[in-house]
Amino acid sequence: MADKDAVIRAQKTASKDGGKIAASAGMESNIERVNREFQEKSALKAAKDLGLSYINIGKTPLNPDVLKLVDFEMAKEGRIIAFFRVGKKLRAAVESPNNPKTKTAIKDLTERGFEVGLTLASAAGIDEALKTYQDIKTYEKPKIIETVEEKAMNTYEKEIKILSDLPEKLDLVTAEEALNLLNIGAMKTAASDIHYEPQEKGVAVRLRIDGVLHKVFELDAAMFAKISGQIKYEAGMRLNVNSIPQDGRYVFNYNEKKIAVRVSSIPTPYGEAFVCRFLVGGNSIMSLQELGFTGKSLAILEQAGNINNGMILCCGPTGSGKTTTLYSILNKMNTPENKIITLEDPVEFYIKGVTQSQIDEKHGYNFGEGLKAVLRQDPDIVMLGEIRDLQTAETAARAALTGHILLSTLHTNSAVETIPRLVNIGLPAFMIAPAINTIIAQRLVRRVCKCAKLRDISPSEKAEMEKIADVKIPQQLLKAGNCKDCSSTGYKGRTVIAETLILSVAMKDLILKNAPLADLSAQAKKEGMVTMQEDGIAKVIAGVTTLEEVHRVISVQGSQA
Ligand SMILES: [Zn+2]
Repeated sequence: MADKDAVIRAQKTASKDGGKIAASAGMESNIERVNREFQEKSALKAAKDLGLSYINIGKTPLNPDVLKLVDFEMAKEGRIIAFFRVGKKLRAAVESPNNPKTKTAIKDLTERGFEVGLTLASAAGIDEALKTYQDIKTYEKPKIIETVEEKAMNTYEKEIKILSDLPEKLDLVTAEEALNLLNIGAMKTAASDIHYEPQEKGVAVRLRIDGVLHKVFELDAAMFAKISGQIKYEAGMRLNVNSIPQDGRYVFNYNEKKIAVRVSSIPTPYGEAFVCRFLVGGNSIMSLQELGFTGKSLAILEQAGNINNGMILCCGPTGSGKTTTLYSILNKMNTPENKIITLEDPVEFYIKGVTQSQIDEKHGYNFGEGLKAVLRQDPDIVMLGEIRDLQTAETAARAALTGHILLSTLHTNSAVETIPRLVNIGLPAFMIAPAINTIIAQRLVRRVCKCAKLRDISPSEKAEMEKIADVKIPQQLLKAGNCKDCSSTGYKGRTVIAETLILSVAMKDLILKNAPLADLSAQAKKEGMVTMQEDGIAKVIAGVTTLEEVHRVISVQGSQA
């Protein structure tokens, strides 16, 4: 009976201490605890016998900087934990002061000028402290980031220019250093993304430079495992999960600037594929001229800053610079009299004086719900990352109709195509027509590098250009060259080609009548809209870009009109 009562008592204690832990497991940990208490009591007694102080080192908070005064391997071998330091005075916990390896560690400290005071600890306590030390060593963000950067900027300066040599360098360094070298290599080539793509054999590494992917090299599986682990760790992704998509974010230093990296992974048959996007943001918001807007588009957008209400929509595929254009317009509207709130995914650039909010789909804070919340904050101007469903479109249109200025983006090909797109989403024409003020459609083309050369124009090219633009076509056009400056890509930097449409009364009438796309296009041309094709041809003739580049981003011959 007495035994049974003891078990019940033990279970009660266990459930009180262990919460939801099963009673049996609780009992085991109770036994462990009694054992540990016994060890600590023994250590305390031994300390008295030796005339030393005692510490329960397993329960003592450890300072990593002090811990590291004794190298991990030496601490492990010598069963010694440095735990307190004032100047050159150091206290260390040891399991046995007479252990020869402990003596070696103490001698090492003394030789480095430390005055070492010893404190006795239990074997279990030393084990626990070593475990902590090991964890710190494994998981602590290494300060190496700065030093590697310096090293990379100096020692690897030349080598990094030849990106294909990078895998050899990666073999020689730690995972942290390897990832840093990749980051720095990407920054040096002005890449916006690094893509890691596992294949049947090896992993392709591609960089997106000025919007175009370039395969730079391949990594073997072992090297990639090292780097992908580091990416996941730094981005706060779950290391032991590789069968579902994940996303995360990390920051590194480059040229005294903090560069945020947005990471996403998806599982593939050959391992996890990663895309790391650099959220560089630049030093300041670029003006519309700097972005490449010219002529009529520029004139219209310069005026857009003066409107009192209505929607300004910027359209184009992913990566066509829509958000950058909206930032530029928003910046013109950014005065102390205006309250501006943005709703973005992610916030790519911080603007002083603007309240910027990041959507969080996982917690129901999406564009639709977020916009309602933003409107309750009494803004004058709202920038909404994207319109992709009816709820968001309706709320946005209503805001525009009730005295707000609303800027947003849409994934449509041309300015006029935005109208039928909104109709298809379900927004009624009677809301579209009065709500929209201006529509911009744009693409980004690469600027030719100074190494570009002239070439003769072909008859078909001449015919094509004449068909689009009512201007004198030159006999020669630029073609991409190659030099060190452009990493042999032939291009450096980007510029927009754009078309900008202001919704006139006539255009609004056509929308209300549900006029077909062709009629809307014809009306836009009649009102003198310079099309994206025309803008592209003008920039080819001006020697800003090449005809090949314009062809890459828009179908010139398949003109929408
Ligand atoms: Zn060049």
